[in-house]
Amino acid sequence: MPSIRNVIIIGSGPAGLTAALYTARANLQPLMIEGIEAGGQLMLTTEVENFPGFRNGILGPDLMGEMRAQAERFGTEIIQGNVTSVDASSSPIIVKTTEAEYRAKSLIIATGASARLLGLPSERTLMGHGVSTCATCDGYFFRGQEIAVVGGGDSAMEEAVFLTRFASKVTVVHRRGTLRASKIMQDKARANPKIAWLLDHEVEAIHDTGKGEVTSMVVRSNKTGEKTEIPVSGVFVAIGHTPNTSLFRGQLELDQNGYIVTHDGSKTSVEGVFACGDVQDHIYRQAITAAGSGCMAAIDAEHYLDKIPEHLASV
Ligand code: NAP
Repeated sequence: MPSIRNVIIIGSGPAGLTAALYTARANLQPLMIEGIEAGGQLMLTTEVENFPGFRNGILGPDLMGEMRAQAERFGTEIIQGNVTSVDASSSPIIVKTTEAEYRAKSLIIATGASARLLGLPSERTLMGHGVSTCATCDGYFFRGQEIAVVGGGDSAMEEAVFLTRFASKVTVVHRRGTLRASKIMQDKARANPKIAWLLDHEVEAIHDTGKGEVTSMVVRSNKTGEKTEIPVSGVFVAIGHTPNTSLFRGQLELDQNGYIVTHDGSKTSVEGVFACGDVQDHIYRQAITAAGSGCMAAIDAEHYLDKIPEHLASV
């Protein structure tokens, strides 16, 4: 493999894998560093019904498996690794992982966004022991039990509905009186008899850290301040996401919420560095828009590589 790559792609969700597919088919021999959350958020999803081409829907992990195999078929080299630093403005660009250092003429950032947490100490302690941010991964463990989902957006509705496949009761806890979720998702959740609603409430504590398992949650009414302890054996936190941009802070222009600012397609504030998917999109955040922007980043990188000076192109 060349010591200086044409293109390194960081992240392996729909955006990164589509960028890999396109750059591989453009004969750029991309290197993809897939990161800790390999496959991205779709690995945490169940049925995907709105990705064109699958009339009966497809499971998120299966969709990602297909995308990965397709990218590899055309020569994408995929390595597992946690990127620890990026020097985006050096020439060539330097990407370091815990194990190695890679250099490239261009970089495509597809690091996505990560699940937000409530910030309760007990939430961290009990993560994986009854507290979860992934209904798909953990729902099965709660067969016949009473659990809670925190949040009022589409993710919370989706998780609550999915979890009724396993749980006997799912209580949605939301801090306001009105849900943020789209009407269709709200309607689906409201029509589900296994879902109970605790609006205008916040989770104040999750018990029992002593036992190392979830036995109950304490909720506080935002209207009266009254606290209630509710027995549950699982708490699913579904309150949105934070863009994974800490590696690029101070190097690339970010917006006030930390998302990478792109212009003219997928271009960032640094030449030769492109961004796609949820790391630069706080509006659409769909698998199909992420994939589309991954295609844009690949084509933008290809055009950039066509135009860079000979001496750099030949290193
Ligand atoms: P979101 O729309 O940002 O909703 C986050 C929810 O969590 C909001 O209801 C928010 O309350 C609540 N929240 C945030 N921080 C909180 C905190 N510290 N404590 C308590 N509650 C908190 O995030 P999302 O539901 O993950 O959706 C993200 C995007 O993906 C949206 O555009 C959504 O439409 C899309 N999505 C689509 C689908 C689908 O179509 N199948 C599925 C999932 C997601 P407030 O409402 O009070 O702010």
